[in-house]
Amino acid sequence: MTVVKDSGGRAVMPPFGPEHEELRETVARFVSAEIAPHVDEWEAAREFPRELYRRCAELGFLGLKFPEAYGGQGGTHLHDAVWVEELAHSGGSGGVAAGLNAHTSIAMPPIFNFGTEEQKQRWLVPGIAGEKIGALGITEPGAGSDVASIATTAKRQGDAYVVNGAKTFITNGVRADFLVCACKTTEEGGHGGISFLVLEREMPGYEVSRKLEKMGWHSSDTGELSFTDVEVPAENLLGEENGGFKLIMANFAWERLLMSIGAVGAMRRLIEATVAYALDREAFGRPIGKFQAIRHQIAEMATEAEVARAQTYDALRLFHEGHDPIREVSISKLLTQRTALRIADRSLQIHGGYGYMREYGIERAVRDARLGPIGGGTDEIMKEIIGKTMGL
Ligand SMILES: Cc1cc2nc3c(=O)[nH]c(=O)nc-3n(C[C@H](O)[C@H](O)[C@H](O)COP(=O)(O)OP(=O)(O)OC[C@H]3O[C@@H](n4cnc5c(N)ncnc54)[C@H](O)[C@@H]3O)c2cc1C
Repeated sequence: MTVVKDSGGRAVMPPFGPEHEELRETVARFVSAEIAPHVDEWEAAREFPRELYRRCAELGFLGLKFPEAYGGQGGTHLHDAVWVEELAHSGGSGGVAAGLNAHTSIAMPPIFNFGTEEQKQRWLVPGIAGEKIGALGITEPGAGSDVASIATTAKRQGDAYVVNGAKTFITNGVRADFLVCACKTTEEGGHGGISFLVLEREMPGYEVSRKLEKMGWHSSDTGELSFTDVEVPAENLLGEENGGFKLIMANFAWERLLMSIGAVGAMRRLIEATVAYALDREAFGRPIGKFQAIRHQIAEMATEAEVARAQTYDALRLFHEGHDPIREVSISKLLTQRTALRIADRSLQIHGGYGYMREYGIERAVRDARLGPIGGGTDEIMKEIIGKTMGL
């Protein structure tokens, strides 16, 4: 896919400032040189090399929002947002982004936010260094949207918890060295009976039962895991016993924001590629972009993408300022994921038959974008949350 420089005269928009734009250029250079050229190969291989975590760590990208004391860069979520957006914009692979971001943005934050100092040394420090890879395990074969109904049990026996159950659809599930895992620690489970334990792949009874084949995100691994009498030392409990629901909720805000930000980057890429193609491809004696029907479609795509970007940046601003913008984040997630999917499909249509061919990367964008309205909380769940914040 040919990507031209942003055609839209992008102004720096709050909450970002000039310092973030510098980082944006650095990330774009790295991703364009060291990720984008390999994406086709990694998609075909159904994984990207583990070495990529090390390389990103070396450049500081895995620890942007974590303190220097743990090997991070001492930045904020805004730096991470730049990384996430530019990875999607310059990389063009939902799978690579998912594999890297599941580690940095959904598995490591609970350890940073809820872990003890000793736990941070065990998992956060090697995680930021790209030496240990993490995954977050909440979803189960019988419980997705209804998070509180998970059935995996952790029963206290002396100094350990004995864990039995299964997780599915876990990003990085196959290669993860540690799993931040939601378990039932009371008979009833539910909101007041869930705890998080950090499970490690070498623990007896911990098994990767399957690597799942999926529609898109091919270069990320998505695993099914099973636990049979896994003895997890009590010191691996993250946060308070039975306080896991708080951790789930805290994590969702950033996960949904980063999915929104990733979609913003993906939409930019698609629009740039579509403009370039529409100027280059000729039919009936002129570039197709000179047909009003095509020009208007692209104008609509740009309008929708800008609305989605403004909404997302505003939710990000509120989050960064320390508010709890559950409504704004849910609106961003709902809006961006559907918009990105629609834009990917329109881009494919404008690319005609070439859009349907693998080499242009557009068909991959459509497949990758289809996950957005499902992962990290479905569209329907976003609407439930938004409705509830309105007293409905
Ligand atoms: C590629 C991929 C990667 C993933 N990575 C991870 C991961 O790393 N860690 C992890 O824990 N999970 C992960 N997930 C799981 C993901 O979060 C769930 O798939 C998602 O939350 C939906 O759950 P479900 O698939 O069980 O669907 P279900 O909850 O069974 O929902 C099925 C349908 O019913 C609808 N529905 C459910 N409840 C309601 C309601 N109250 N009102 C209206 N409609 C409703 C849903 O919106 C959906 O359309 C991943 C999923 C995929 C596909």
